Amino acid sequence: MTSGVLALQGDFAAHAAALRRLGEPAREVRRCADLAGLRALVLPGGESTALLRLMLGDDEPWFDALRAFHDGGGALLGTCAGAILLAREVDPAQPSLGLLDAAVARNAYGRQVDSFEARLDAPAFEDGLPGVFIRAPRITTVGPSVEVIARLAGQPVLVRQGRVLAATFHPELVADDRVHRLLLKHCRPAPGL
Ligand code: GLN
Repeated sequence: MTSGVLALQGDFAAHAAALRRLGEPAREVRRCADLAGLRALVLPGGESTALLRLMLGDDEPWFDALRAFHDGGGALLGTCAGAILLAREVDPAQPSLGLLDAAVARNAYGRQVDSFEARLDAPAFEDGLPGVFIRAPRITTVGPSVEVIARLAGQPVLVRQGRVLAATFHPELVADDRVHRLLLKHCRPAPGL
């Protein structure tokens, strides 16, 4: 049982550390072939435009490989730039994987408040969740099969569609490990299957 963290750009090391603290072996994924045998993959925060340049400019067929990873039963957690990559639609328009039926707007909290921390409303979690937002996107629309797990000021900030989780904040930067636990929970087959 091993999980991976896409290690092309951004704060992948903090995600790998968070997974290892939970006892999950974590592999840095730098080539599509590194996805083999993983049960979950984190797409970290960073800069989605830089990530896309690397992913689409590379000889590696990242989009096909990540979609195949999902279709083959892999679970995904995208945080911040990673959530932007997962979305169906991005504003301003840029390529995305479309594995999450949601629209996101990049850098949507304005220039004055580029980064902030806030307690999130998350009914399924006692005391809510800590949210660290860094030039964060907003999830502006979610489709009917998307469950909203946490909100900030009424707006979705942590959502799930099947094995795909997306957070507009940075759970890897706090001691609270419950978002990473949620990823590991959803990558196990449901009981009885
Ligand atoms: N602003 C970045 C983007 O649009 C995301 C920021 C982050 O991942 N912390 O891709």
